[in-house]
Amino acid sequence: MTAITFTNSKNQQRCEFVPLNPGNVRLYVCGPTVYDRAHLGNARPVVVFDVLYRLLKHVYGHECVTYARNITDIDDKIIERAAALEISIDRLTTMTTEWFHQDMAALGVDYRDDPNFFEPRATDFVADMLSMIEQLVAKGHAYVAEGHVLFSVKSYSDYGALSGRTVDEMIAGARVEIAPYKRNPMDFVLWKPSTEEQPGWDSSWGRGRPGWHIECSAMSYAFFGDSFDIHGGGGDLMFPHHENEIAQSQCCHPNGEFARYWLHNEMLRVDGKKMSKSLGNFFTVRDLLNQGISGDEIRLVFMSTHYRKPMNWTEEKLEQAKVTVNKWRELTAGVESSGTPETVLDALKQDLNSSLAITELHQLAAKGDIEALKGGANFLGLFQTPDQKQKTADAAIPISAINRIESLIKQRTAARSISDYRLADAIRDNLASIGITLTDDVVESTWSYDPDHPNFGRWELLD
Ligand code: AMP
Ligand code: ZN
Repeated sequence: MTAITFTNSKNQQRCEFVPLNPGNVRLYVCGPTVYDRAHLGNARPVVVFDVLYRLLKHVYGHECVTYARNITDIDDKIIERAAALEISIDRLTTMTTEWFHQDMAALGVDYRDDPNFFEPRATDFVADMLSMIEQLVAKGHAYVAEGHVLFSVKSYSDYGALSGRTVDEMIAGARVEIAPYKRNPMDFVLWKPSTEEQPGWDSSWGRGRPGWHIECSAMSYAFFGDSFDIHGGGGDLMFPHHENEIAQSQCCHPNGEFARYWLHNEMLRVDGKKMSKSLGNFFTVRDLLNQGISGDEIRLVFMSTHYRKPMNWTEEKLEQAKVTVNKWRELTAGVESSGTPETVLDALKQDLNSSLAITELHQLAAKGDIEALKGGANFLGLFQTPDQKQKTADAAIPISAINRIESLIKQRTAARSISDYRLADAIRDNLASIGITLTDDVVESTWSYDPDHPNFGRWELLD
């Protein structure tokens, strides 16, 4: 059997993957901070590590692989967004977590019935975080200053090893938050005080809340102990987030190895720049789905680029993916799969080379081996929802109509905000008359459509 190899970010070397215990292979991936819809960049690691999870389950057995991907539901961005929307933090995080699940399920990532997938929420693990912070203080790796607990980077000689930089190089290169109470500008927050209005938990240092980095150290320890196999996430997290996770975990549990293999996906870019909320150059997965682009098409575009390469999202790639998805769907309709082809597995075993796996599928299609094509496509998470594409094809909504619908929804939101319910209801009824249903949420209204509605497609009725 071919061995699995990965490029381990620890040393940038390709090496064979040897799990600590093949009967219990453990994968941890940093999950989303839940305050908004996931943008397309956020979906890239979700798909990349889904492919990895599928491969590990195939090689080691379904019940022998455990995957934990956290939900960050404590964060200053969450506090700010909830305040701006005048809703509770709990409402915001619950709702956006649900959106995340729905959007990722459309991309073929749906773990609702998977007993080996865990999705710990940070707020449920504050006691674990406090216990780690206390140990770090007791061991001299952390200190208390002005109600904050800070990790002392000088206390850990390997700090920076993952990204291969020394503390001094990092200070020179990073925008570090300067605070008078920090002994070293690179020291980072483990715990910080909360005001009355901010969420907080009681601790030996007063009421406060954890910093972001300690969340993953505590949750990975709670599920996997002091040594586990693979830690994944976007390359943008390598520094400082992953350096800090390593420092905390290794200082707290010096006899453990923490994560033995680190895998980082490269960024999804728009015009050469990382897609990110802060740059404003983003669109959400939901935006694309609402335009009638199917999850299979988005997934195929993602998998066609190796995870360690930056990727530009282009119309051209999307158009190509549409053609391929259509063709493969037609070819494999009603066909019985002959199982996962070895060529596809071998491609994935080579540092998760999903683009090579897709090339293999093209070759199977060209050869007319449609049973193997079906097996390979299913293994890669394609065509899991048989009628999704069909429905989208029947219900193709032109961009001009989507723009019109979206602009009516904006008008309606504005009308609701000044309590003009007559106009708001008129707009809702107008949309309903052609089969578009609105669902109001505190944050936004989402819409769905019924392609079987007698007036569906009569966009002129919206004018
Ligand atoms: P965040 O919610 O910003 O903490 O990000 C959640 C996940 O999305 C992390 O694993 C990030 O590394 C990843 N991520 C954010 N932006 C991008 C992007 N443009 N391309 C690929 N991954 C991204
Ligand atoms: Zn993390």
